Amino acid sequence: MVNKKLSFVVPVYFEEEVISRFIMEMTEELKNLSISYEIVFIDDGSTDNTVSIIKQEALNNSNIKLVELSYNHGKQAALTAGITHATGDYLLYMDPDLQDPPTEIGRFITEIEKGYDLVFGIRKEKKDSFINKMFSKIFWGTLRKFTGLKLPEGLAVMRIFNRRFADKFLEYKEQNRFIEGIFMHIGMKQSAIEIDQRERYAGTSKFNFRKKMELAFNAIFDFSELPLRLAVKLGVTFILIGIVMLTIIVFLKLYLIDFQSGWPSIISALIIATGVQLFFIGIAALYIGKIYKESKGRPLFSIKELTNLNDR
Ligand code: UDP
Ligand code: MG
Repeated sequence: MVNKKLSFVVPVYFEEEVISRFIMEMTEELKNLSISYEIVFIDDGSTDNTVSIIKQEALNNSNIKLVELSYNHGKQAALTAGITHATGDYLLYMDPDLQDPPTEIGRFITEIEKGYDLVFGIRKEKKDSFINKMFSKIFWGTLRKFTGLKLPEGLAVMRIFNRRFADKFLEYKEQNRFIEGIFMHIGMKQSAIEIDQRERYAGTSKFNFRKKMELAFNAIFDFSELPLRLAVKLGVTFILIGIVMLTIIVFLKLYLIDFQSGWPSIISALIIATGVQLFFIGIAALYIGKIYKESKGRPLFSIKELTNLNDR
């Protein structure tokens, strides 16, 4: 960590109750670690005293920096704004509510100095209400299923990554962004450490149900083509059901019983026609999916390691 700078990237949204305490604990911890650092706060459109408190603190400490977004853009955008402005060799992302404690910073540094590109924290035990824990289990479980991303269990907010990783992240230009997904999509050399968790220091969670659902849908639509494939699958299923029905009807009519004719054939034809329509809507959807993928303009590859070559 000699001659290297560490940037903290901290999104804040109505966090007036925790900022001062956060800065106090951070500066205390950083004094012990004696490293050069900056704390980049990103205000995500708070209208309480969050901004004025940070500005006040910044007067006494030029390592404290602030990006003010003009209105509430959501945490994912705020974080991206922070990464864009951070200048350190390493970037450490954390929330100001002290749920992931600053006392863990040292361990993150030690781990990333081993040569990883990203080290994320895993919660030993999640300090949260039963409902929130349930929700988060369902949320991450569903995401893992739908997106095929290897999202680790009990992912904490706190994580550290190097300049190379940050630059790669900034190549992702998509508007709707699910950062955890992008981090996994980048790959490179990743490691994890178990960290302690505390209760939120003060204030309440800024993620209501609506915000969580929004995030979940973003994640699924950004990383999975399953919804698109649904129409094709459903279409094929309908066509098969229709054909089987029709076969049975013809067979019954010819060899077995003489029932009221008319409706069975109409129904079968209807099911087959619906199936054919669904199928072609599905095909169109697959093309739209490809256009969508192109429009995100994601980097084509990300390199894990170079031998006898330099980064370029
Ligand atoms: N946050 C943000 N914009 C938002 C909502 C939240 O920047 O629209 C920030 C918030 O200030 C906090 C972090 O995102 O620093 C995580 O939020 P919180 O601690 O409320 O979420 P939880 O820990 O309950 O998931
Ligand atoms: Mg929190």
